[in-house]
Amino acid sequence: MGGYGVIIVLYFEIFSNVNAKFIYQIIFLCNNQVMSRKIVYVDMDGVLVDFKGFFANFDKNKINKFGAPALVPGVFSKMMPIKGALSAYKWLSIHFDVYILSTAPWGNPSAWLDKRLWVEKYLADLARKKLILSHRKDLLIGDYLIDDRLAHGSQNFQGKFIHFGSDKFANWASVINYLKEKENIK
Ligand SMILES: [Mg+2]
Repeated sequence: MGGYGVIIVLYFEIFSNVNAKFIYQIIFLCNNQVMSRKIVYVDMDGVLVDFKGFFANFDKNKINKFGAPALVPGVFSKMMPIKGALSAYKWLSIHFDVYILSTAPWGNPSAWLDKRLWVEKYLADLARKKLILSHRKDLLIGDYLIDDRLAHGSQNFQGKFIHFGSDKFANWASVINYLKEKENIK
């Protein structure tokens, strides 16, 4: 549509008195119709973020002090991405309307900030204003949820739940292959 759009605008600019801006608006609306993309939600810990790897060699005394790994302040911005996660997110962003849907521990207020910082550090503009932190993932409307846990409403998500880390979706390559086939993406 974009290519034809340029030709149409040039035609009207040269051969008619119709305002080109008006034509641009029509093309923009048409493109939006054609390009309306399915919504995909992607979890953070265990899907984009290597939570387990980060705590593999972490100070046990510090964990004990706060009661659980997820409750240690200041850690969520320091974790590394899971293998293949960043390129997978980029691929998803080309083909879908992608949002990050994560749960930040209520008992660890710094996690809410740290997750936002992680998203900016590793995904920058690709995920700008696309971070959703919720304890009720089932309330979000969308087509796919890629998550490693059934908690926080994931199992009641109304779209297709892609259980990351399960036998069927052991890694990002298997998730992408599934979506390619399901959505007929070359
Ligand atoms: Mg998770």
